[in-house]
Amino acid sequence: MRRNARELDLMRKAGKVVAEMHEKTRAAIRPGITTMELNNIAAEVIERRGARSNFLNYHGFPAVICASPNDMIVHGIPGNYVLQEGDIISIDCGAIIEGYHGDAAYTAGVGEISPIAKKLIETTERSLYAGVDQMVIGNRLNEIGRAVQQVAESAGFHVVREYVGHAIGTAMHEQPQVPNYWPGSLGPTLKEGMVFAVEPMVNVGTIDTYTLEDGWSVMTADGSLSAHFEHTIAITDNGPEIFTLG
Ligand code: MG
Ligand code: MG
Repeated sequence: MRRNARELDLMRKAGKVVAEMHEKTRAAIRPGITTMELNNIAAEVIERRGARSNFLNYHGFPAVICASPNDMIVHGIPGNYVLQEGDIISIDCGAIIEGYHGDAAYTAGVGEISPIAKKLIETTERSLYAGVDQMVIGNRLNEIGRAVQQVAESAGFHVVREYVGHAIGTAMHEQPQVPNYWPGSLGPTLKEGMVFAVEPMVNVGTIDTYTLEDGWSVMTADGSLSAHFEHTIAITDNGPEIFTLG
């Protein structure tokens, strides 16, 4: 779907709220803080800026952020988990302004982290931007995932297949999906006014996953580390515009 100028402006505003949620939670990440405390920091931003959360109550999800440490890929429920020196933590969150959505994620290290963790985080973020570079009018949707996968695999890592990006607008998850890998066909042509959330999840080891008994937390099957970066990005006449940048 293509969004008009007014819609894009509301999504830009929602994106700025998400960017501030990232900024404030990122600044608070340190050994000793709980994932629930990070959630509360993000919730304060939403409330102060007069936004609503698209995560809270989503299919019953109980919080405004997902917080996924170490071998948890996505959808972690914030709680009493205490971040430890050497952990990595993925934070995914979103906001709604006047019915229009933003959605973005990042992974950060807690204190000093291992060289492989550092490389995983850097590579996953770089793979997202390689995807964003493909988001120009006339390109095809699945060139995004092709570029993401190329960066991740060149570094020796692996891209999760089961969870993908998505179009976004008046709902957080709209069609079409945006794979983070080459799915075997080019897909739709990118047009001005389309908005997508691109969100590579990259694992050190296997792409296989399982879900914990809480029904949400998605883990790497082999216990290897996983990172996740996401932005909400519009296709414009001037190239890709990232709405969720600070
Ligand atoms: Mg997200
Ligand atoms: Mg998303």
